[in-house]
Amino acid sequence: MVSPNVLQPKSPDMNWLGSYFQPSLLAAKPYKIDAPQGITIKLDQNESPWDWPAQLKDKILASLKQKEWNRYPESMAASLTEILAQYVGVRPECLITSPGSNHLIALIFDALGRKLPGKVVIARPSFALFESHCHYAGIPFETWDLDENFHYRRDRLPALPDGSLVVFASPNNPTGTGLPKAEFRALLKEFPKVMFLADEAYYEFDDEPYTDLLGEFSNLLILRTLSKTMGAAGVRLGYAIGSPELISLLTKLRLPYLLNHFTMEAARVMLTDPEMKAFVARNIDNARRERERVFQALKGLPCHGMQVINSKANFLLMRWPDQKDTDRVYLGLKEHGILLRNVSSGPGLKGCLRVSIGTAEENDIFLKAMARL
Ligand code: PMP
Repeated sequence: MVSPNVLQPKSPDMNWLGSYFQPSLLAAKPYKIDAPQGITIKLDQNESPWDWPAQLKDKILASLKQKEWNRYPESMAASLTEILAQYVGVRPECLITSPGSNHLIALIFDALGRKLPGKVVIARPSFALFESHCHYAGIPFETWDLDENFHYRRDRLPALPDGSLVVFASPNNPTGTGLPKAEFRALLKEFPKVMFLADEAYYEFDDEPYTDLLGEFSNLLILRTLSKTMGAAGVRLGYAIGSPELISLLTKLRLPYLLNHFTMEAARVMLTDPEMKAFVARNIDNARRERERVFQALKGLPCHGMQVINSKANFLLMRWPDQKDTDRVYLGLKEHGILLRNVSSGPGLKGCLRVSIGTAEENDIFLKAMARL
């Protein structure tokens, strides 16, 4: 309850205030995610199911204690950029960091999408932030609609004049499907004057990273994060890789001091400590193995015509022909303390729920509850 003594800022005339904002921002829904109250099994955000080992946290905390908290951190995170560049296998000039890849999505759209000679094209359905940021920023876009089974198809791509920007994710969230590397290579070749932003948030769960395409094509920018495979969602570190020329232009727009002491120290340990290598490997191995097991088990369930989409990431998408069944399953699982992501209000996602792959025990509990619903 808010105390009656608390200052209440005066409300403005909304017509006046609204005149400062894009009409598409005023109409857009804010980002919202169900709060996990009473939830014991959290399978809604494609996180790693394991927290970091306690001794590593201690190591990071000890090193943080040595830092001068009254001083700004490195303005452009140069030391961490070097470590990341080494991890990826590129030169540091080809890489830009940010607190989570969400932040870079906004920066890239604002940098490349505003005064395009061509058009912005966004895969649909895909990561919701692509479309929502364009609404917030008033950037018009067309969509590259996936087919009925959520596969990318060249013949569904809108006409692409030179100077266009195409944004897609592979593996794609929330469908788990991907654009095969050979098909992407063909697109990059066919449209040398179109910039492609490939979001590879889940690339380590798949076998076909696009990294080496950067050596062949200059019309490609790759976006990555430590949030998923690296089990570091709370650390907030994302990065983009591209030509040094493009990265240096984007870097002008990157605000200084974006990464704080904690993000940089935790990421440094994550990327260099041998113990963390084993932690990441377990995460990837668990997701691949368990995803196959959960996929097969779900396919075997007689669950009101449910379809399960095969996935290259650490989650699976389920779809029911009747939205009522989708809502019933979502709420039924929630009552069992199991939280999934109800993505069914998104474009092209009617009847769909997304489940992240948890530990083997969590997945067993989820499957048991599904069998009863
Ligand atoms: N891209 C995709 C495809 C995602 O699924 C997510 C997170 N759900 C992000 C980017 C953002 O990741 P973060 O901001 O945690 O780096």
